[in-house]
Amino acid sequence: MPYLVRSGLWIGNIGDAAEELEKKETSEITHILSLVSSVSISFFSEWRSDILIPSQEIRKVYYKDDEHNLFYSLENAGTHLQFIRMAVPLRDMDTQNLLQYLDLCFDFIHQCRKQGSVLVHCFAGVSRSAAIVTAYLMRSENLTREDALESLRKSCPSVGPNDGFLEQLKMYEDMGFMVDHASPIYKRFRLKVLGDSYNRGETIDNSKFGADPGLPVVKVSNSDGTNETARAPTPAYRCKSCRRVVALQDNVLEHVPGEGETSFEWHKRRSGNPFRKPGDNDCSSIFVEPLRWMTTVEDGALEGKLLCAHCEARLGYFNWSGIQCSCGSWITPGFQLHKSKMDDSTV
Ligand SMILES: [Zn+2]
Ligand SMILES: [Zn+2]
Repeated sequence: MPYLVRSGLWIGNIGDAAEELEKKETSEITHILSLVSSVSISFFSEWRSDILIPSQEIRKVYYKDDEHNLFYSLENAGTHLQFIRMAVPLRDMDTQNLLQYLDLCFDFIHQCRKQGSVLVHCFAGVSRSAAIVTAYLMRSENLTREDALESLRKSCPSVGPNDGFLEQLKMYEDMGFMVDHASPIYKRFRLKVLGDSYNRGETIDNSKFGADPGLPVVKVSNSDGTNETARAPTPAYRCKSCRRVVALQDNVLEHVPGEGETSFEWHKRRSGNPFRKPGDNDCSSIFVEPLRWMTTVEDGALEGKLLCAHCEARLGYFNWSGIQCSCGSWITPGFQLHKSKMDDSTV
């Protein structure tokens, strides 16, 4: 039996969803949100061979934004095609990027509750569905992760999102219940996800990298026929040799100087120097998210040089297992650009 979380919002496992979809009479539930590894309705017959659920695709969608494609499907399903089912492919793994689907799932649940009642289900009804419902409660009721989870446990005691999902829900809270792709929290997280997929031996595909700031900015046409750039002037770094833009301030992953597993010896000694002014910047380089001009990264090596896309000057270095900044901080994975090879600029 699914558990009622709020009016119009249920949580359950695959058996609960199958039972609904096989019903011959109408039920209170009108919509189903499936969070399993495959979006296909045949997932149910693979789980139990006696189940065959009619379905009619409404659409399969690549949910686009400027950074990635999200895949999900929307269909009519059930004995009389009486349900609207949205299926989002999610694996119950710590490394699964949950954040990227939160807006999509929130909007669906929100719409469903206006029109009827939605059952959010995964396989066991413990981790994936609980994580999505927790995020929904956080945003819709302005609750912290802990409060939302505790509230959910009152309706459904068995819920327990995996550790990776819990961490991401915390980031969601820290970002103010929105997935802000420009936020340093999200950027760090994306880099971690990328590092994890590198460590699993997956091919590194530069579609997951940040846009190349050296390429022309998209122009917006005003109604009076004039053009303007889509971006407000922003601090940037240019290659010292050829002046090509290599990074925007927005691409930089800030770190706290000297904070890390170990510090360089010289740094420890120097920190006692009375002539050192507060605010002195010990970092001789910046660390950025991987950007699309970093073609050497695509070769799949653990580490390598970062060369200017225009003049091939050596700008820095990358290492998936991390790089120590001159200030002592470790950044993992590290995409490092030397300040001495770049000029400050504005674009
Ligand atoms: Zn250059
Ligand atoms: Zn540093």
